[in-house]
Amino acid sequence: MFAETNFSKNLNFRKVEKKSKIKIQNSVMLNIILFGPPGSGKGTQAIKLKEKYSLFHISTGDIFRREIKGNTPLGQEVTKYLNAGKLVPDEVTFKVLAAEIVNNPEQCEAGILFDGYPRTIPQAEIMDQYFEKNKTPVSVVLSLNVNDEEVLKRILLRGKTSGRSDDNDENIVRERLKVYKNQTLPLSEYYSNQKKFIELNGEGSVEEIFASLGKEVDALVSR
Ligand code: ADP
Repeated sequence: MFAETNFSKNLNFRKVEKKSKIKIQNSVMLNIILFGPPGSGKGTQAIKLKEKYSLFHISTGDIFRREIKGNTPLGQEVTKYLNAGKLVPDEVTFKVLAAEIVNNPEQCEAGILFDGYPRTIPQAEIMDQYFEKNKTPVSVVLSLNVNDEEVLKRILLRGKTSGRSDDNDENIVRERLKVYKNQTLPLSEYYSNQKKFIELNGEGSVEEIFASLGKEVDALVSR
């Protein structure tokens, strides 16, 4: 069972839940976590997967970048973390995630595709607790395996056109990879213990990887 952390105790769930109109049956809702290092292709695959399975795509990174661009209070709060390649604090990140779900109940009906969340064990725990209350557990975690050299190459290449300042600086990229190993990779054990962790080869063509992801999702749907 879920071990309550100080972090989860402090969160005001009731406030989030009061607004929530999500009533979805377990069997119907597909909650998929796309997992993998920065530059492993989660965003690219997410766009294709959300179309195919009518899922609501939530990228915490995209949300933070949108807020920074709009110069909102949240954007001002998180910009220093993104620019340093560090993680935004868990409390802030979960609130952003919960708000995105609560504000888009209809879009979430078929399920949610998580891209860049969770990135720490406390984020996964709080998510499990939240989903347990709403009876919509995580269905599966699909992990894209890509080696370090390849992700570094991909991110620096993306930096030339993406306009993302965190993609342009090799030191920041290396920091993001370090943060991934130290704080995010332990989630593979967390979800393996729940028998939800599936590893896939993230090197190959976009279509090949999409096909292998699709196979796993189809297997889940037909279960
Ligand atoms: P990438 O996967 O290429 O690193 P993202 O767009 O997913 O890029 O994330 C960009 C940045 O946004 C991260 O480096 C981090 O600062 C912040 N961020 C995104 N998701 C989370 C999260 N779940 N927890 C904390 N910080 C996050």
